Amino acid sequence: MTFAELKILAQKYGLSLWQVARSGPAKRALTAVTVLFALPVFGVLTAFGVSSDSQLDRIERREVIESISLPKAEEAMLAATEPSQYRNSERIQRGDTVAALLQKLNVSDQAAFNFLRTEKSARSIFQLRPGRTVQATTDANGAMQSFTYLHSPDQYLQVTRNETGFVAKELKITPSVRHVYKSGTIRSSLYGATDEAGIPDPVATQIARIFSTDIDFHIDLRKGDRFTVVYEMLYHEGEYLRPGRVISADFTNAGKTFQAFLFTDPDGNESYYSADGQNRAKSFLRSALAFSRVSSGFGGRFHPLLKNWRQHTGVDFAAPRGTPIWATADGMVEFAGVKGGYGNMIEIRHSGGITTLYGHMSGFASGVRRGTRVSQGQTIGYVGATGWATGPHLHYEFKVSGIHQDPLRVALPKAEPLPQKYLAAFQQSAATQGEHLALLRDTTFGRFE
Ligand SMILES: [Zn+2]
Repeated sequence: MTFAELKILAQKYGLSLWQVARSGPAKRALTAVTVLFALPVFGVLTAFGVSSDSQLDRIERREVIESISLPKAEEAMLAATEPSQYRNSERIQRGDTVAALLQKLNVSDQAAFNFLRTEKSARSIFQLRPGRTVQATTDANGAMQSFTYLHSPDQYLQVTRNETGFVAKELKITPSVRHVYKSGTIRSSLYGATDEAGIPDPVATQIARIFSTDIDFHIDLRKGDRFTVVYEMLYHEGEYLRPGRVISADFTNAGKTFQAFLFTDPDGNESYYSADGQNRAKSFLRSALAFSRVSSGFGGRFHPLLKNWRQHTGVDFAAPRGTPIWATADGMVEFAGVKGGYGNMIEIRHSGGITTLYGHMSGFASGVRRGTRVSQGQTIGYVGATGWATGPHLHYEFKVSGIHQDPLRVALPKAEPLPQKYLAAFQQSAATQGEHLALLRDTTFGRFE
């Protein structure tokens, strides 16, 4: 991709690639350089493997304001045009103290330190959490004007200077949302690909969950499978807080592409739909095993399948002992206990005369017993090796009207499509999102094919 092409892409999203702002009249004396990278461009950059996420994160999270010293006389001459405030931001490291942080933030202010040390309403500062952020603004002499500590996901400490000294308050965070565009190709595992693309684990888990009605991420993944995703990153005044929801995604598995677009109806119900308004959710999950970094890496390969249903009456999935087992659909627990070769076993009755059975469990989830109503994706127990099992695995059966079916091949009933009245609004937003995904997909993968 040429620079011109990247520029066109940036224009399309209404972004500047980067911006170097100099502090106007004071530029000869004090050069305040603010480098701001617009987030969606990251997606494009990382998609090309230009830089790792950690490097980009570092660039994006820090606003660098630097002063260059000049001879005293010239400095005095230009003093009138100095910027009046400096803003600094630091990520807390293990072992940091309040004094050390103030120094890193270029705060040189004994009164401010004393206030933070003794003020009751500012006491959250004495629980410094590594990875969380502190910010300070100072004047040119290092006198603190304001101080912020983002100590928890939804609350922060704010200290501001007033006429008599300082005042501290705990405030609620209302995050601002940015959309991040990323893409990846499966080489060894989903988490391998998301790590490579710099996608946070909670987003990787959401991707697996969204597509889990069509793809069993334990056994269906193929080398060369690929995905693009648009997800939220939550910020507080420019500081990264945490990842949010997946907005849209597509996943190409063994040559077949699935798409998912988030739609929120006027009542606030959220669901993922394909471009034509079909609900992504189906009444059964493809896999009864919770998908996680641990279970995905098991055995190092894509096929933890021990035996298929033709060899007996179910499917056996190898998984580490203790891996959570999910109910594959809503239903009622008909049996939970020990039964011969199955060991600890649960059988669930679903609508449409369908039953599912889960064997060899190490134990049951608390509160799950005969008569319990369970919902799709609810943990009902844990992988073990009870009964006739040579090693930890899940034995899973799927019956329709008492007749065994191959759970990997059976056509699963579909969930309700999007109500007709929302279709127009959905299609409009899906079309825009789809365009963005397609653009990212083409620029990422098109070149290498
Ligand atoms: Zn079995």
